[in-house]
Parts: sequence; C-alpha cells; structure tokens
Amino acid sequence: MELQVYNSLTRKKEIITPDDGVVNLYFCGPTVYWFQHIGNLRAFFVMDSMRRAVKYLGYKINHAMNITDVGHMTSDADEGEDKMELASKREQKTPQEIADYYWSLCHKDMQDLNIEEPEHICPATSVIPEIIKFVQDILDNGYGYITKNGVYYDTSKYSHYGELGGMNQDDKLFGARIEVDDEKKNPADFVLWVIAKDNHIQKWDSPWGVGYPGWHIECSAIGNKFLGEHIHLHGGGIEHRTVHHENEIAQNFAKCGHEVVDCWFHLEHLMFDGGKMSKSKGGIYTLSALKDSGYSPMDLRLFYLSAHYTKPQNFTFEALNNAKESYNNLKKLILKHKKGTNLIEKSIISDYKNKFSQYVADDINSPLALSVLWDALKNNSESKDIYELVLDFDRFLGLRLDEIKEEKTDIPQDIIDIAEERKSARINKDYKTSDILRDKIASLGFSILDKAGNEYEIIKK
Ligand code: AMP
Ligand code: ZN
Repeated sequence: MELQVYNSLTRKKEIITPDDGVVNLYFCGPTVYWFQHIGNLRAFFVMDSMRRAVKYLGYKINHAMNITDVGHMTSDADEGEDKMELASKREQKTPQEIADYYWSLCHKDMQDLNIEEPEHICPATSVIPEIIKFVQDILDNGYGYITKNGVYYDTSKYSHYGELGGMNQDDKLFGARIEVDDEKKNPADFVLWVIAKDNHIQKWDSPWGVGYPGWHIECSAIGNKFLGEHIHLHGGGIEHRTVHHENEIAQNFAKCGHEVVDCWFHLEHLMFDGGKMSKSKGGIYTLSALKDSGYSPMDLRLFYLSAHYTKPQNFTFEALNNAKESYNNLKKLILKHKKGTNLIEKSIISDYKNKFSQYVADDINSPLALSVLWDALKNNSESKDIYELVLDFDRFLGLRLDEIKEEKTDIPQDIIDIAEERKSARINKDYKTSDILRDKIASLGFSILDKAGNEYEIIKK
C-alpha cells in the first residue's frame, strides 16, 4: 500500500515514491540547551510514527536527525542570543558539557517512549567542515554574499523563496537580523556563517573568518551528508514552516541546482492552558515528572496516538488519565487473546489488517488506526490470531504490546476487580462509590494504598 502524506508546500496529500524501495526521511532534532518537555516529545513521537509507517508499509528507511548544539538563537529568525552560550553561562559548564547532558536526557526520554533510533543522529558541531563546504558551494553558485558580519543567503536569487510559508514578496521581512547589518541586500536574507565576537565560546576557522554556522545550514548539510540530494520526507514542528524550512529549501536549491525534498510535513503543537506548551512560557511537563506521578511512557504514547499530528493536541490530566485507563484495558484484552484458543477466519483477520494499513497509509491517521486495534481486541472470540494481529499493528503503534505479561500477584482476582472499579470511580471523581468500594475491599481482608495518578497498591492485612 502506498503512503500518502500531506505536503505543507503543495498543500495536498501526496504519494511518497521511494528510490529502490528506500524512503529518505529527515526530521529536525532537538536543541540541546535544556530539557525537552512533552510538547517537544510529541514532535519526536510524530517523527517516529512517520518512520514506523514507512516501515509498516514495506519500505526500507534511511533516516537522519540533527542535534542542534550551536548557532540556534533565542528567536528562530536568528535574533537574540545563542541558546547554547546562554545555557553555558547559566550552568557554568562548557557548551559541550551542556549538549552532552541535555542530549542524554532527551535520548533517554526517546527510549522510554519507544522512539526508534534514526540511522543517523548527528550533532551540528561534528560536521563543521561539511557546513563550511556547503556555504562555499552556495557562494560559488552565486546565491550568497559576504559582509562584515558573516555570509548571507541572497533570497532574491531564489524565485520560490517564501512559498512554503505562504508568503508573498512584500511579506518576506523575516529572516536573519544578526544585529542590524547595513550590508544586507534584502530584509529576508539570512545568515549562513556568523563572524564570532571575541567573547563567543563556540567558534571555528573558516574562509570568511573565525565564527560559527547559522542555525539553518546544519540541517541542509546533515541531510546532504547522510541522505544525499533526494529526500522523500522532511518534517518538523509547525513553527519551522515559515523560517527554518523555508531557508533549508533555499539553501538546498542553491547547492544542488534542483529541489531536494519531495514532501514537507509539519506537526501542530501540544497545547496547554490555551497556548502552545513552551519553555519560554512556563506551564510545561517533562516525561520524568509524569513518571514520578505514576504515569508510564506508554500512557503518554497512547495519549499522543489519540490525536492526528496535523491537529493541535490539548494536554490535560483528564486526557492522560483516560489514556492510562485505556492502556490498562488494552493489557487485559491482550492477555485474554494471548491465552485464547479459538480460531478466527482468515478473512476477518485480513479485513482488520487492511483497514489498519489503510489508515496508516492515509497520512498516518493514528486515531483511526487505534480504533481498528480496539475493534480487533473487542472481538468476543478469544484467539491467538488476534494476539498476533495486534503485535503486527504494534510495529506502527509502538506501544510495547509484546511486553505485556501476566503480572504475578497473590491478590485474588475479585479484589483486583473491585480495586479497578474503585479506580474508575476515582477517575470520574465519584468519591462516594470509591469509599464504598474501599470498605468492601477492607471487609475482605485487604487495604488499598492510593498513589499519584490514580494508581494504587493492594496490601493484604
Ligand atoms: P527545540 O528543542 O526547541 O528545537 O524543539 C524540538 C522540537 O519540538 C521542534 O521540532 C519543535 O517544533 C517541537 N516543539 C516545540 N514545542 C512544541 C509543542 N508545544 N508541541 C509540539 N512540538 C513542539
Ligand atoms: Zn532543521
């Protein structure tokens, strides 16, 4: 089945056509100056879903992701201060120590969330020679110019500049403004290489002076190094559409003389309290904080799966609690089928499989794919065929369904059932029922210890 993805450039769904069965996927990675919140992690979950969809539909994948450890200013349009340098001052560590530490946290979160490792993970600072060569090629091909502040891209040379973000010629006022540079030719021109001030920590020799790369060039250079001149899918957060990806398109064209990316996909943000969850605004949650409150990474993954990536997703604890409860229900249903002895007609299994694949292929429609998982699990005929089917679905869903095992417990099943009933009552804030059920459990010789996130422990008295 062919994968179709909504292309933010052409504004329609398009079929992804691999070369020799291989899909090249690039996704803009984290800036490792601070910890990643669950909004950032939604981005990497979407990256992973795209990767898994490609593989689920039978293609091979070649996937690259950068780690931004230099040159990302506090504004994506290259204004403000360098985020790595700010963190370095804040924590009295070298930029390298900052990058290593925050990448290790981000990497751990990705592993917890069952995000598959891209084939190529590349810090920007490890490809400075490639970046310099890329900038040189842009200059040699006539798309750049040098000023006292560095090397700029001349946006007037690329006639399609602004199309991804939907900007007309008059709107192109964004772009690099590394302080005001009176030698800049057009307001939208952006920086490729910045001449460093004396007190700047991260800097390298270059043909244009000691300095550091602009933020946008790393993704072009890393994509080119690992994926070549044809990238089938390139993604990132929606805010990258108007500046960062616009600039990547221009850079790629200047170097290669042709368009490099077939399809640009962008995820909408995770929202909290009416706005985008963001480090600068506060009101953020990390995965480790959620884990401390009793939620598992798979609860969060199931929560993410319940919304389509092209729609904003609202984060509430009510929604996360629902995901947690659903994951527990999933476990029970899966264990029933795992032990099932019934045979299911092959045509029924292939109907489920076809439906599921269609939803995956249709711009990775995870909410509808989930609905097929539930339909299959709710089949009354308990069967290993269903168990095998949902393990197959899990190649896309990534919910670690193969790790679900019968939990060994001395607590009788009827007590567990009452405790689960009580938990549902608590989730629904029906405290009267919850108290009645607690008393019932006590009368049967057990007590219940409540934990964060409506979790609990049953103790034999
Ligand atoms: P950063 O580390 O700031 O470069 O962000 C890493 C990724 O997280 C980028 O692709 C951003 O677009 C994405 N991102 C940031 N905030 C959110 C959010 N609230 N929801 C979803 N993605 C986000
Ligand atoms: Zn990028």
